[in-house]
Amino acid sequence: MVNKKTFKPKLLEAKVTKRVDVTEDLLIMWITKPDGYSFKPGQYCTIGIDGLERAYSIVSAPHENELELFVELVPPPDGMLTPEIWKLKEGDIVSIRPRAKGIFTFKPKYNKHLFVSTVTGVVPYISILRDYLYHNQTGHEFYVLFGASYQTEFTYKDEIDEISENHNEFVKFVPTVSRPKEAANSSWDGEIGRVNEIVGKYVEKFALDAENTLIYACGHPGMIEDVKEKWIPKGFKVEEERFWKED
Ligand SMILES: Cc1cc2nc3c(=O)[nH]c(=O)nc-3n(C[C@H](O)[C@H](O)[C@H](O)COP(=O)(O)OP(=O)(O)OC[C@H]3O[C@@H](n4cnc5c(N)ncnc54)[C@H](O)[C@@H]3O)c2cc1C
Repeated sequence: MVNKKTFKPKLLEAKVTKRVDVTEDLLIMWITKPDGYSFKPGQYCTIGIDGLERAYSIVSAPHENELELFVELVPPPDGMLTPEIWKLKEGDIVSIRPRAKGIFTFKPKYNKHLFVSTVTGVVPYISILRDYLYHNQTGHEFYVLFGASYQTEFTYKDEIDEISENHNEFVKFVPTVSRPKEAANSSWDGEIGRVNEIVGKYVEKFALDAENTLIYACGHPGMIEDVKEKWIPKGFKVEEERFWKED
């Protein structure tokens, strides 16, 4: 019998094929997809450098050739793997566990999907939307609420803008900045406020009801807690993916 505590899956290798630095502490990285590697949109892979491993949700959809990851730097001394990821360049090798994991995936039995995220928390939603559109699926509605402190952090905003323009009948997109008064947001003329605090406004605006709507919350643990505290008592189901624990 396999001892679950000591069993370590054989690690595979993946090569960094491209890296784009979005800001000083946000980057997008593409790595090769090992032969036979499969995943569902919304799942995460486990990446390692020199034996240190962390989970990363996958941005790309399963039909894409490579694995795309969107990573936020947690500076040292707290962050351990991300400072190492920041040293990576094209051609470098990382380890990857052979199986993707996670249950934060598209649940098609609901026809309305309210996606709430902070910064890197948008990742699973991009994969789900890319996959949905690739397969020309129909019959569902998506409402993407995307929060960040600064507008520079809205990675994938252009992609979601384009998706919502091309599929306006079933994809609505609301990016919101939580620090509208800061100089870096002076040109921002969109929604303002923390993303968890605007959920109510858009549940009402889009007439989302508990019976037909699944709320997904991904990213900052405080945001997830608040969404659950407010919406579960109102009868909504909330799916969550926490990227880290609050101390
Ligand atoms: C299922 C899952 C999916 C994830 N997907 C992503 C993803 O797509 N992109 C991504 O960047 N990260 C993602 N993470 C977080 C990732 O696994 C690492 O924890 C993160 O990159 C920091 O790694 P680290 O080794 O540098 O720091 P850690 O040693 O992991 O963490 C150090 C400290 O920082 C806190 N922390 C971790 N991440 C953050 C953060 N983003 N902001 C503030 N504090 C943080 C931790 O609670 C801890 O106290 C995911 C985590 C999980 C569990």
